[in-house]
Formats: sequence, structure tokens, C-alpha cells
Amino acid sequence: MPPAGAGASGRGAAVPVGTRLLEAVAVGAASGALGAAALAPLRWSGAGALVAGANGVISGWRGVYDWRRATGWAGAALDATWGILGTAAGLAVHAASARSGGYLPELSERRGRHVYRRGWAPRRGFAFAAGNVITNAGDPARPRRRALVERHETLHVWQQRLFGPVFPAVYVLWAVGGALTGTAVWLVRREPDLYRVVERHAYYHNPFERWAYAADGNWPPPALRRPTPSG
Ligand SMILES: [Zn+2]
Repeated sequence: MPPAGAGASGRGAAVPVGTRLLEAVAVGAASGALGAAALAPLRWSGAGALVAGANGVISGWRGVYDWRRATGWAGAALDATWGILGTAAGLAVHAASARSGGYLPELSERRGRHVYRRGWAPRRGFAFAAGNVITNAGDPARPRRRALVERHETLHVWQQRLFGPVFPAVYVLWAVGGALTGTAVWLVRREPDLYRVVERHAYYHNPFERWAYAADGNWPPPALRRPTPSG
């Protein structure tokens, strides 16, 4: 057993409820005010306050922002403002993952993100990031899964903070455009598997994915290295 105060990672149950409550209220109030101001030009102040405030309360209670670092403050501010679309998606994923998600505080506290071992994800076996929420992380004891969370998925969290509404727009554009160009290539080259060609165009060559796979030292990923796998 490590002695009390041995490190910042040992938060968990050791943090008094009052301290957690205080952080939840403070971060919720500040984030709500920022969210309302950010969406005021669109006359969506109420929605902005609600989304950013809810994220602030959850993130404050769980202590995910690292207030000793500039990146902690930047993450909190961006989640409440420019990245608020991703934050809204993250709240939905929280709701869908709360019961059986298997929240991992050791990968979340003061790391600017919420990590779930399981939780809601669009594709089986693939980890997923919506706003500051990462799901389907898998077993954190496995170095490969841990690197996937630390490098690939955490980069997606920051992409959504830095690119704001551009991120989902590029995603939709690549999904639709990739389906079209993938189908065209499949027809012309007579490749055997339509799904794999479309996946290559619509998902793997999405610039945000390519960047994240490269950051994880995993470009080209296995699916692109083996055109016709037996599995
Ligand atoms: Zn990705």
C-alpha cells in the first residue's frame, strides 16, 4: 500500500465527497457560463449552458481536468466552447455507457478524458472517442490497448477540441465521399470485397484517422497491410 499522498494518481475513493462536490459545482458553473456565452451569437445560450454545465459537473466530480497544467485548463475551456458539439456527443455516450461501461478512473483522473473499458461504441473491437469520452478501451493492463487510448483516442479528443465543428463535418464528408469513391474503385478494379474498399476510403483515409493511426505508430494499420486477410 502506498503511503497517503504518495502520488496524484491515487485519487479514487480517498478524495472526500465534499472536495469532489466542490469541484463539480465550480467546474459546472464556470463551464455553463462559458457554454452560454459561446452559443449566444446563435441564440442557443440555454443549450450551451446545459451541455457545458453538465460536462463540467461530471468532469469536476470525477476530477478529470488537471488544473496544474495549461492543457488541463485549455481542455476544460474548449470542451465548453469551440468543442461543444463533441461534448454534447460525449454526454450521450456517457448516458449510454453509465450502467455497463466499466469506468476506468486510473486512465481518466487529471488526464482530461473519461475512459470506459466497454461502453457504447459504433464498431465492435474498435475503441471510440466522442468529445472527451473514450469507450471500448478494453483491458488497460494490455500495453497495446493502453497505447491505443493514450495516443490514438486521446488525439481524437484533442482533434475535436481544436477543430470543433470541422471535425464532425469532415467525418460525414469522408463517410459519404468514401462510400462513393470506394464503390467506384470496386467496380472499376473488380476488387473482391466492397466493404473493405469502402472502409479504406471512408474510414482509414479520413485525415483525422490517418493522423491518429500514425501518432500511435500504426500506419498503415493491419487492415491496409493485408488486402485479403483470411480472418
Ligand atoms: Zn480513430
